Amino acid sequence: MAQALKCGPCSFVEEEVDPKHFCVDCLEYLCTGCARDHKKHKTLRGHRILNETDLSARHNLIRRIKLIVTLFDTR
Ligand SMILES: [Zn+2]
Ligand SMILES: [Zn+2]
Repeated sequence: MAQALKCGPCSFVEEEVDPKHFCVDCLEYLCTGCARDHKKHKTLRGHRILNETDLSARHNLIRRIKLIVTLFDTR
């Protein structure tokens, strides 16, 4: 199961963008633009978004989160 990581919001509009961030609250990968948009939304402002450095530092955590995402992903 070698699924390439892509930005969640962008994949909704059929664009495959390399994610640079990960939102812990949405359990979703975000590209730079979407991470910025994420912070603009009033309701999403409190979300904890990991940056690229965090992503590599917490690779194991991300792997676990990804597993959870896979469980909830019914597509
Ligand atoms: Zn995006
Ligand atoms: Zn979020």
